[in-house]
Amino acid sequence: MSAGSSNGSNSGSRSPILPGATIGFLGGGQLGRMTALAARSMGYDIQVLDPEAACATRPVASHTITAKFDDVNAAIDLASQCDVVTLEIEQIHPDVLDAVASRTTLHPGRAAVYIIQDRIRQKQWLRDNAFPVGAFVAAQSADDIADAVRTHGPCIAKSTHGGYDGRGQARLSDADQAKDAWTALGSHPCVVEQRVDIAYEISVLVARSASGHVAVYPPSRNHHTSGILTWAVVPAVISDAMTQRAQELARGVAERIGIVGLLAVECFVTKSNELLVNELAPRPHNTYHHSERGVATSQFEQLVRAVCDLPLGDTTAFAPSAIVNLLGDVWVQDTPPNMEHALEVEGVRLHLYGKAGARAGRKMGHLSSIGTSAQDALSRVLESYRRLSPGTTGSFDVHEPVLANITS
Ligand code: ADP
Ligand code: MG
Repeated sequence: MSAGSSNGSNSGSRSPILPGATIGFLGGGQLGRMTALAARSMGYDIQVLDPEAACATRPVASHTITAKFDDVNAAIDLASQCDVVTLEIEQIHPDVLDAVASRTTLHPGRAAVYIIQDRIRQKQWLRDNAFPVGAFVAAQSADDIADAVRTHGPCIAKSTHGGYDGRGQARLSDADQAKDAWTALGSHPCVVEQRVDIAYEISVLVARSASGHVAVYPPSRNHHTSGILTWAVVPAVISDAMTQRAQELARGVAERIGIVGLLAVECFVTKSNELLVNELAPRPHNTYHHSERGVATSQFEQLVRAVCDLPLGDTTAFAPSAIVNLLGDVWVQDTPPNMEHALEVEGVRLHLYGKAGARAGRKMGHLSSIGTSAQDALSRVLESYRRLSPGTTGSFDVHEPVLANITS
């Protein structure tokens, strides 16, 4: 058992949902698909609800319900056929969460998801519970946005609901841009965050089972381009002190919010070495896809264990591991890039999500690798990425980042 694991106060009252049972997924994107694959290999049956009939989880599920995330009747249909329901997207209508919870076991529960699914509620909850966040303002109008920029300088306005991969965000450096930002975000309330002077970004994944056992993953170091994750690597090559601070922070958030399942805590470390929470995700997270390669228990298997109240798996990293995302940008008019050439790099594996229709910014798959060090694992996936689409850089600049050891 790794140092990251501990027992909760109410351990001993476990009532596990054993293999052979059926797990339902609200959301059938790549996160659902990869979790469903892990669940299948553990002997569970899978059902999924997603608005898209051809969703990525469909081929892995016994039954797919095509419905929106506010369709209570469809959710009842799913719940009535499942022993436990989990989710891979937080934008599920609260009435749907209530309907599912009234008929079967729902993990994570309504309370945590409700806080997280609204950026204003989430930020306020973090601040109210004394977790460190950057300066922010809840804006109800263009004037509020303008005031926030006058007070805090350069800011990012973010939609309260539905933003992901940098979408639903507007960057402002001047109060004059407030009207345009308000319009671009649909003239709805939004959260306006001061732009943080980021030294580097990390995330920490925490698993918590129904009976309160907790397992914390090693922090992942993450790089974003235009708001979308480009690569992630474990170990994060940060000081032991920062590792401990980040893990304690993430564990504290997971316990306080009462998550059952997974909680990913995205963090900024500022140039003055402050650790701030950026945002929370109550589900598997893109920055931990390398856990399938270098950690004893992948995040997908861990989610299954947590929601089924099985013993949580070991979160020790047995090898440095990295991923690079494959966005639709590297497909040329639906022609896939050169997978064969990419896979020549030793240690690299390809994971595609089975999505038809490559679009710019759409997550189509990822490359992963283990290596002798974080730098080595990262170099391998980036070399593989370059071979995938020679002559283009795809969606981001893949020149070699140097993971200098951060010692404070
Ligand atoms: P998403 O839900 O799209 O992941 P985030 O709030 O995590 O939205 O923003 C995406 C990325 O944009 C972050 O990982 C970070 O690189 C950058 N970013 C977001 N908020 C800030 C901020 N307040 N200051 C500086 N950079 C930010
Ligand atoms: Mg994010």
